[in-house]
Amino acid sequence: MTRRVFRYVPYVIAQDASAAPEYAARCVSGDEKDCGAESGVCGHPAEVEEWQRRHTQETRHLRYRRVFADYAVLTPV
Ligand SMILES: [Zn+2]
Repeated sequence: MTRRVFRYVPYVIAQDASAAPEYAARCVSGDEKDCGAESGVCGHPAEVEEWQRRHTQETRHLRYRRVFADYAVLTPV
């Protein structure tokens, strides 16, 4: 058995303040096929929740897949 040695380089990982995080949801309600309706990319989780409430009100769909994305930057220590 061989061992691989990874040289550890110290970096700090932090959220990139110059790029806004992204929030989105997709409706996955449905028996055989997902509904597929999407909120689109939002800049705040409350906007996604508002879209979900509206979509549920219109369709009675209750299940969503939520996605969060942000940008990260590594800075040498
Ligand atoms: Zn739906």
